Amino acid sequence: MLETLNGAGGGERLVGGAAIGRKSNGEPVLLGCKCTACEKEMVPPVSVCPVCGGEAMREAVQPGEGVLYSYTVVHVGPKRFRRPLALGYIDLDNGVRVFSHLEGDTFEIGERMKFDVAIVGRDPDERDLTGYVFRKEDGQ
Ligand SMILES: [Zn+2]
Repeated sequence: MLETLNGAGGGERLVGGAAIGRKSNGEPVLLGCKCTACEKEMVPPVSVCPVCGGEAMREAVQPGEGVLYSYTVVHVGPKRFRRPLALGYIDLDNGVRVFSHLEGDTFEIGERMKFDVAIVGRDPDERDLTGYVFRKEDGQ
C-alpha cells in the first residue's frame, strides 16, 4: 500500500487527501479503488462500491492523465478556496471520471489534462490548503 497524505502530520491541510498517494521517490500519484466484485474503479477511494454494494475494495493507482469532460468557473464561492474557482470532470485514460480542482486560466472541453498536487486555497487560520488538481498537459 502506498503512503497517503490523508491525515498526514506536519500541519499540512489537505483537500481530497485520500486520493493523493506518494511513490517511494515522493512523486504524487492519484489514488482510487477497484471493486473486487464488479471491477468498477473510482476516485477517491471508498469502502463500499456505489455500483454493486460490494465491500471488498482494493487500492488502485490511477493514470495521471486524461481529457477534460466538463468544467465550470465559480466566482462567488467558499472563502477557503481560490477564486475564481475552476472545477471540472476529467476522464482518465482508463475511463474513470474524476471531479477535481483545475489549474489554469482557460479551458477547453476535450483537451488533455495532467494530475498534480497544488495549493487550492487557505483555511481560516491562513494556512495553505493542498489538494489534487488537473492542469493542461502543456504546463500552462
Ligand atoms: Zn462493485
